[in-house]
Amino acid sequence: MTEHTLTVAGVAVDTRHWIGGERVASTETFTDVSPIDGSLLGEISRGTAMEAAAAVAAAKAAFPAWAATPRAERARILHAVADGVEKRLEELAIVETCDNGALLRSHRRGVMPRVAHNFRFFADWLLKLEHEDFETRGHTNHVSWDPAGPCVLITPWNAPLMLATWKVAPALAAGNTVILKPAEWTPLTASLLADIAAEAGLPAGVLNVVQGYGSEIGDALTSHPDVRRISFTGSVPTAKRISASAAANLTPLSLELGGKSPLLVFADADLDLAVDLAVEQYDNAGQVCLAATRFLVQESVAEEFTRRFVEKAGQLTQGDPRDEATDIGPNIHPRQLEKIDGFVQRAIAAGARAVIGGHRKDGQYYAPTLLTDVAQDSEIVQEEVFGPVLTLQTFATEDEAVRLANDTRFGLAATLATGDPERAERVTAQLVAGTVWTNCFFVRDLQAPFGGSRHSGVGREGGTWSFDFYCDVKNTVTAPNGWRNHG
Ligand code: NAD
Repeated sequence: MTEHTLTVAGVAVDTRHWIGGERVASTETFTDVSPIDGSLLGEISRGTAMEAAAAVAAAKAAFPAWAATPRAERARILHAVADGVEKRLEELAIVETCDNGALLRSHRRGVMPRVAHNFRFFADWLLKLEHEDFETRGHTNHVSWDPAGPCVLITPWNAPLMLATWKVAPALAAGNTVILKPAEWTPLTASLLADIAAEAGLPAGVLNVVQGYGSEIGDALTSHPDVRRISFTGSVPTAKRISASAAANLTPLSLELGGKSPLLVFADADLDLAVDLAVEQYDNAGQVCLAATRFLVQESVAEEFTRRFVEKAGQLTQGDPRDEATDIGPNIHPRQLEKIDGFVQRAIAAGARAVIGGHRKDGQYYAPTLLTDVAQDSEIVQEEVFGPVLTLQTFATEDEAVRLANDTRFGLAATLATGDPERAERVTAQLVAGTVWTNCFFVRDLQAPFGGSRHSGVGREGGTWSFDFYCDVKNTVTAPNGWRNHG
């Protein structure tokens, strides 16, 4: 172990930035702590405007050569990155678990394979990317996706490497260069990604990773005139700051933000399925943007639904996320725990009843909570908690269900449990949501558009939508006799 390396579960992680193909240390550091037991993971280089400028300069310098690299060669290198992720899958899984507290079994079997798939998918999609030429009064229109330039990608802590690579992979595939800024609570796997990308042959400066507090390094990245795209996943207040900062240069933005998504359970639903879907909402200790945190249940089945939910939720095991038997791990940070408990205690003081949970447990764990007797306009129904806290309200009619479902400032996702396909179609058409799942949850194909409406986001990514965002899309019109020699 050197001055600039920390070791987590036997895995060495460089604590410095990765800029222009070199490790760069800052004079200041910030402390990274594990949410599992509060243990110290290490001191991480704490970036400032200086490192931000260096990273953008490196990305700018590397851009022409990477943009000119044939698509097939870019795709080959991205597949090599995926190979590296797969080779180091166990290491990435345990480091991520120690850093953000999410389940090791999920990282092993779902998340890290998905990280590799992010690279493979966008590498392959790039090669298929085509728009049929079309004619206008005999002229030919041809659409192409040109690389745009350096992209700043800013990501949160709840699924660090998954969310980072969901942006990094299409941005690189498109021929852009990248400055990735991971969340300060979970910087470690982004550093490992830098190593993997270098080993895979990604040229210096094509991927840069800068670490630090958003409040200290963020503005320097998002207001930089050489940055051509900003893609952000995180909270609404930060999105507003970034939007204001990007406005100086009219830098195009993609924003993937929070949610307060509903689970609508109709009386005609398979109740066992509905309860399975409901209990899934405690996944990642409730720290999932897409979580259906508001249960809206038809009156006639509400009592039975609640009974079965309580029984099923009671079977969940909460504890150390490294243990394969654990279903719910810790929450990310003492500050997040404070925030979660604040929401719950204010809701209870306002008249809500905790059917289960409603309190902290030892360490950084929060008891899985279900609150009833909550008013539609109350804070607990309107605001994103980002913890294992769900609410239950009832409705009498389909119209009322739709009205309640749409009555927040968010519009990220919605989940329906119903046995009636016509109802599903009718209700779906009226919901404000980027994704609607019927009788299922969290099925996400990378070719599907992903994003939110209202305060849940701006724009869509996924499949061709990612290339529409990360590229300068160009239409070339050629005259009927376009090749005639006018000379
Ligand atoms: P956050 O907004 O606090 O931080 C996200 C990132 O922004 C971090 O890297 C942070 O350092 C950076 N940042 C902070 N201030 C900045 C500034 N002024 N300029 C530039 N960058 C800055 O969000 P969080 O608490 O890390 O994440 C949780 C939020 O993310 C929740 O609201 C959740 O719903 C949302 N989220 C959304 C999606 C989605 O796909 N829609 C996915 C996961 C999480």
